Amino acid sequence: MDINTAKEALLKRSNAFRERYFTAYGQLVLRVNEETYISSRENLRLSKLTGKDFDLFDINTGDIGRIFSSRDDINAIVFICTEAAVRFSKENQIMRPALDDLAQIIGPDVTVCPDGTARTLLKALRNRRGCFIQGSGIIAVGDTIEEAIAGARILEKSAEAEIYSGKLHGLQYLDPTTAQELHKYYDGSYSKVNQKEKVDFISSGAEEFQLRNRIIDCGKDMSRSELVQGSWGNISLRLNPDTMLITPSGMDYFSIRTEDIVRMNIHDLKYGMQRKPSSEYRLHAALYRRYPECNAIIHTHSNGISAFAAAHAGFRISEPPMDQLIGDMHCSEYRTPGTDELCDSIMEAIKGSHACIIANHGAIFCGNNLDVTLAIANAVESRACNLLGFGQRAEEEDA
Ligand code: 13P
Ligand code: ZN
Repeated sequence: MDINTAKEALLKRSNAFRERYFTAYGQLVLRVNEETYISSRENLRLSKLTGKDFDLFDINTGDIGRIFSSRDDINAIVFICTEAAVRFSKENQIMRPALDDLAQIIGPDVTVCPDGTARTLLKALRNRRGCFIQGSGIIAVGDTIEEAIAGARILEKSAEAEIYSGKLHGLQYLDPTTAQELHKYYDGSYSKVNQKEKVDFISSGAEEFQLRNRIIDCGKDMSRSELVQGSWGNISLRLNPDTMLITPSGMDYFSIRTEDIVRMNIHDLKYGMQRKPSSEYRLHAALYRRYPECNAIIHTHSNGISAFAAAHAGFRISEPPMDQLIGDMHCSEYRTPGTDELCDSIMEAIKGSHACIIANHGAIFCGNNLDVTLAIANAVESRACNLLGFGQRAEEEDA
C-alpha cells in the first residue's frame, strides 16, 4: 500500500463517525508497509479529520510500532475516548458480552488494561480484537481499518449499554460457551465470506439497477447515522412478489457495489452464482412471505436499541404516527444469529407490529418503502436513546 492510499483509506473511514449523541476523540492508525505506519495525531475529533492530521512513523517507533512489529495479523489500530468507555473502564476490570457482535468481533470477554503500554496491550489483545484502557477509553485492532473501526464502535456501544441501562434492570449476558462459539464463527466464517475482489453483474433492467443502488445508499446512511457498525445489519427490498434484493454478507457498507447486491427467490431461497447473501436471508424472506404489504426491511445494530436488546427489554411507542406505523417494540428470545431458530423467535416477537428488538443483538424494521423504513428506524433509535438518557447533557449544551 502506498502512503496516499493509506491516508485516503483512513479519511474515508473517519467519515463513518457521525457522533449521533457522543463526540468521539481518538486516533486512527494503519500499517503502510513493513517499515512504516501512518497515524492521525492523538486525541483529535474523529468525525473532523483532514489530510493534514496525519504523520508517518517508523515501524520501530513507540508502543504502536511495537504492536505492529509483534503481530503481523494486525494492520489497523483505532483508539477512541468516549464518556461511557472512560466511565466503564474506571469502574470495571472485565466486560462480559451482552451483545453478540461484541462476542463475535472482539472475543468472549474484554479486559480493562491498567495502562496503554505495548506490553500490557499485547497481553490483552491475545485472541481478542480490542480492550479498554483504564480511565482513557478503547483500543481496537484489525486486519483492516474497517474491522478495527467496527470493533471500536461495538466496544463503545457495549460500554453505553453497561452505563445507561440502569433503568432496564440489568443486562442479560451471553453464556461463555455461546460467546466463545460466536467468536469462532466470526474468525472462521463471517470475516472470510465474500472476499473475492469483484463479481460480475447478473442481467437486470434499469429499475432493478436503481433499486440496487438505493440499497447501497441506504447502507451508507445507516452507517453514518450509527444504526450499524462495519458490515453488521442488513437491508433488503422486494423486487416483485416472489423476489427480493438483499445486501451481501460481511461486506462493509462503503465497499458494496451495484453488482454485489444479491437477487433471491423468497420461496425457495435460491440465488445462483452471486455474492453470498446476508446471513439473515431466511428472516427477510419469511417477513416478505408473511407481510405482502412489506416492500423493505432493515436490520440494525444501533446503540440505544442495543442497550434494550442487551437487557431483553422492550418499550412502548405511543406517539402518532409511529404507533400506527409500527406498534410497540417487543424483544425476541435470544437465538443464534443467522439461524432458523432466530427467524422463528423474531416472527413471534414482531406479531402485531412491524418491528421488534432482537435479544442480545439489535432490531428489525419492515415498511412500505426504504425511505420510510429508514426514517422509522432512525426515529425508534432516537426514542430508545431518549428513554435511556443518552447524550442529554450534550444536547442541552448545544441548545
Ligand atoms: P450479514 O453481514 O451476513 O448480513 O450479517 C450481519 C448481521 O447483522 C447478522 O445478524
Ligand atoms: Zn445482526
